[in-house]
Amino acid sequence: MTTQTLPNQTSTDPTLAVSESPKSGFYGTFGGAFIPEMLYPNVENLSKTYLQIIQSPDFEAAYQALLADYVGRPTPLYFSEKLSAAYRAQIFLKREDLNHTGAHKINNAIGQVLLAERLGKKRIIAETGAGQHGVATATACALRGIECVVYMGKIDVARQSPNVQRMRMLGAKVVAVESGSQTLKDATNEAIRDWISNPTDTHYVIGSVVGPHPFPDLVARFQAIISQEIRVQLQKQAGTALPNYVVACIGGGSNAAGAFYHFIKEPKVQLVGVEAAGLGIESGKTAASLAKGTLGIIHGCKTKLMQTKGGQIIEPHSISAGLDYPGIGPLHAHLFESGRGRFLSVTDEEALQAGLHLTRSEGILPALESAHALAALSKLELKREDIVVVNLSGRGDKDLNTYLENL
Ligand SMILES: *Cc1c(COP(=O)(O)O)cnc(C)c1O
Repeated sequence: MTTQTLPNQTSTDPTLAVSESPKSGFYGTFGGAFIPEMLYPNVENLSKTYLQIIQSPDFEAAYQALLADYVGRPTPLYFSEKLSAAYRAQIFLKREDLNHTGAHKINNAIGQVLLAERLGKKRIIAETGAGQHGVATATACALRGIECVVYMGKIDVARQSPNVQRMRMLGAKVVAVESGSQTLKDATNEAIRDWISNPTDTHYVIGSVVGPHPFPDLVARFQAIISQEIRVQLQKQAGTALPNYVVACIGGGSNAAGAFYHFIKEPKVQLVGVEAAGLGIESGKTAASLAKGTLGIIHGCKTKLMQTKGGQIIEPHSISAGLDYPGIGPLHAHLFESGRGRFLSVTDEEALQAGLHLTRSEGILPALESAHALAALSKLELKREDIVVVNLSGRGDKDLNTYLENL
């Protein structure tokens, strides 16, 4: 196990610093918990207890031990000579792709399953679109010996079959949801229905910094390990804890929230979030919720989302399944509105090219999601001495066919 001196997490609380009313879970005007009355007992109980549990020494010790010895943390911070030469800056990659199961999602899944155990829950439910969050949750449940049910739209079950097989191999029950458009939002509705029917024995593991309070804060805290490590590693490798830029892709926003977390209160650090433009933000086939979204409520949270004038959710499009979400976490909506964060969008084509470039130049095949963050490098006005950390959220093995069919 690697030991590091890490900044004290309890003394700084950056997400709360950007939140006007942390107790109610608002980030500026975004966030909150807009939920049906029947969900109140579950969400209230979680709100009242989560901080006390996850900040207890006993929880902290169990969580950190699993992150180190099971997930493989700290993940390396890799200085990329090739990208540094290509973009004329000092480019570092935070290697979340090297985590067990291949992405950052396991940081949150393990944290929430440990939390569920301490809440006395015997059963875990989750929703998944591409299957990445489903696999991470099924993995954490296999590890802890807890029953796991994953809701997934019927269309997604068909097009993401390797991940469905992985979940089944791990012992999870995958429920194919046949209502609505048979994709992620319908799977989410079904998971919420399940939670309402099973309020006492079940915990709902949400996979990103979305949903009703306290989920956006809870998930951000579990992912904050990313920026906690970056500060320590950068200090050692570059002589400063503070980069000029941190760049991360945004679906719901959890890997970005984790990569930004310990830098939010450092004005010197530019926070760059990268949305999926799909075929282009004006094409009607996009997932850029900040560029194209308007204020509304999705999955219990007030945020920016892509909707019609009548309030119907517009189906998002991105070549990357993990960025294919019609809303965005309330933290990011607030960073956008307040000007603290800068948000760019990258098309399918730009992401494919950036993914190919990293694969050929460094021998690292990035997830298509992460390739969006890489593609944003050419859109920044970088100077030679600028230190840039790109969060490489996951590995691209799952995307091989998409790369090969489209390049
Ligand atoms: C799911 C996923 C994302 C998008 O989710 P966020 O909550 O925005 O981080 C990004 N990268 C990878 C590799 C993913 O699996």
